[in-house]
Amino acid sequence: MTERADLRSLYQEELVSWVAGLNEPPYRGRQLARWVHGRGARSFEGMTDLPASLRRRLAEVARLATLRVVRRTTSADGSTTKYLLACEDGSTVESVWMRYADGRRSACVSTQVGCGMGCTFCATGLSGLGRNLAAGEITDQVHVMQHDQGERVTHVVFMGMGEPLANLEATVRAVRLLNAPYGLGVGIRRITVSTVGLVPQIRRLAQLRLGCTLAVSLHAPDDELRSRLVPINRRYPISSLLEACREYAAVTGRRVTFEYVLLEGVNDTPDHARRLAERLHGLLAHLNLIPWNPVPSLPYRRPGPERVRQFARIVRAQGVPVTVRVERGVDILAACGQLREAHTPGRKPVQLAPRLVPAAAP
Ligand code: SF4
Repeated sequence: MTERADLRSLYQEELVSWVAGLNEPPYRGRQLARWVHGRGARSFEGMTDLPASLRRRLAEVARLATLRVVRRTTSADGSTTKYLLACEDGSTVESVWMRYADGRRSACVSTQVGCGMGCTFCATGLSGLGRNLAAGEITDQVHVMQHDQGERVTHVVFMGMGEPLANLEATVRAVRLLNAPYGLGVGIRRITVSTVGLVPQIRRLAQLRLGCTLAVSLHAPDDELRSRLVPINRRYPISSLLEACREYAAVTGRRVTFEYVLLEGVNDTPDHARRLAERLHGLLAHLNLIPWNPVPSLPYRRPGPERVRQFARIVRAQGVPVTVRVERGVDILAACGQLREAHTPGRKPVQLAPRLVPAAAP
């Protein structure tokens, strides 16, 4: 039996040629694109402006990779909702919906089931990589949350589970689908793709000139420390990473955001701040400091507020723009990590770290 095509991962032009194979005119492909990517349709049956015969045929030969809500947890202040979503094969991913006082509504999406990067401060990495998500499974996270929240997304950040650039093709496809006028039309500058520092993929992303914001997880000013926190640094040391970031900024004209998780006594001293500022000086960059949210099973501590302010002051004094990430939904994150543990079949249970709730893209 041939595999049914997943229409949720196809661009409009691909849908047009795909329906041509069913002897349908191009406008049927465009109608499909609006249903699938614009409205996030859950089934072919609900596509009421398509003839019933075509809907039946579609259900026979195609499918829509569709996620379902397993659990949702909302923070005490109501601003943040974390979702545990199940894919058709039973794999689960986590996604976050954040509402801001200024009206922004940001969706944080996962790109992989688990993650193979093994960053030592992130228990998602401890579970290892399950599989890559298809583009449609990435975009559907946004549709599911929109439907559930009853409002439209304004920003999308690729900062959930997984390393987006290790799943580059699906990530790029998802960015384009979310940005497309027949899709959700999210402004490209309102889409942020994060990476732990895969240098060749950063270069490829630059060449694609998507125009989205790139966020790079840096977390240390020197290779010795960064290799301990972020093992991929052994393959792509800081100098090559920053070179690729410089290239990204030059090619795209976009400022690169550097994420820096502050771990008490590990990477948060004034000396770390000074050396970090030296590294970033002269780059078209912005530094986002993230005080660590403690997890009992991991050997790190969160620095106090004065330590965080001091770190920010030192870097800012060197001319690097700095923000400190506002805590959002911290009260629900660890619990949600546990939910995923409970609902992922066939995977070794681990205690998941609270994911870093990202700031919305500028
Ligand atoms: S921090 Fe990101 S890249 Fe590193 S292990 Fe966690 S999910 Fe993977």
